[in-house]
Amino acid sequence: ENLRRGSEERQSQGDLSIRGDVKNGSITDSEQTIVSGNSNSESVCLSSREWDIPLDEVVLEERLGEGQFGVVYRGNWHGAVAVKMLNMETASPRRQAGIMATFEQEVANFRKTRHENLVLFMGACVKPPNLAIVTSLCKGLTLYRHLHYQTDKFNHNRIGSIARQICLGMGYLHARGILHKDLKTKNIFYENGKVVITDFGLFSVAKLCQEGRRGNYLTIPRGWLYYLAPELLKDLRPGIEHPDLSFSTRSDVYAFGTVFFELLTGTWPFQDQPPESIIYLVSKGIKPPLANLYSIVEYKDILMSCWAYQDHDRPDFTRLQSHLERLPKRKLSRSPSQPTDVTRSN
Ligand code: ADP
Ligand code: MG
Repeated sequence: ENLRRGSEERQSQGDLSIRGDVKNGSITDSEQTIVSGNSNSESVCLSSREWDIPLDEVVLEERLGEGQFGVVYRGNWHGAVAVKMLNMETASPRRQAGIMATFEQEVANFRKTRHENLVLFMGACVKPPNLAIVTSLCKGLTLYRHLHYQTDKFNHNRIGSIARQICLGMGYLHARGILHKDLKTKNIFYENGKVVITDFGLFSVAKLCQEGRRGNYLTIPRGWLYYLAPELLKDLRPGIEHPDLSFSTRSDVYAFGTVFFELLTGTWPFQDQPPESIIYLVSKGIKPPLANLYSIVEYKDILMSCWAYQDHDRPDFTRLQSHLERLPKRKLSRSPSQPTDVTRSN
């Protein structure tokens, strides 16, 4: 509805839609500024790049849900797509300008990515106060749904395959200089044995919009806390309303550790504890007890290395991936009644 309304407004205001420059047969990144609006109303400056998708070309279908970034729709744009709508209506004009700049920067990163374990970026719509990102539609379920709703139990080989594909996608992102900042099972789709990671590098713009919606107060969604490395949790001390979280490649590795823990156990670390306790325990370097976790030693070692307290002690994704690849495949998954290769660690 909003999109359609937006496009009608755009046309009635005599908007232009200009694509990037074409030089030497290829489209360049150069930015063009379009000034739209009636002569008697204030003008809105829009910048158009090669990845712009005119809003009126996107047909919105079902509402898929709402997350940090805004509302997500299933849509159609030359095939099935996911449309992430970001609404910054409530933000002041100055704040909107800040959000726009962050959005453009994060989208510029997003569009650099081409990897089979990463969601395909297709384009973006920029029509303040609406911003939208269009990606391929992931058809499978998220790992979150598999593990926490369907309570699916994956065997060791499958866990290894999923973990390896996550490491491949993440290793690629880091090699391109992009931090995910929001790696969690809700952002990992799994279909027919294939992993697709979504929502990389959009954290800053999502956070800015959250702040706008929640009266400048950063709240910590519980599902987010489990993935935060100790060095990030330290930035969340009470009284600091706009923590500048110091994300790094190694904080992404810590988040992967939590994803791996979920794959192994079907739960989150310290799931039954209140948020304050989780913040306290993780900041002190205390790990959840693994006494009842039946898994191969190698997986426990991987988990512990990703959760290392000091960020420089955590491996990078390339190393993790090659380590996972070298582990021998098992004919059968071990059950608790056959704990021959199982360790019970603290
Ligand atoms: P979160 O990641 O916290 O679930 P999002 O805003 O990313 O929040 O997603 C909202 C909903 O849209 C979720 O149900 C998510 O699974 C779904 N979704 C997001 N991106 C895609 C996509 N590319 N394909 C299919 N569904 C998606
Ligand atoms: Mg998401």
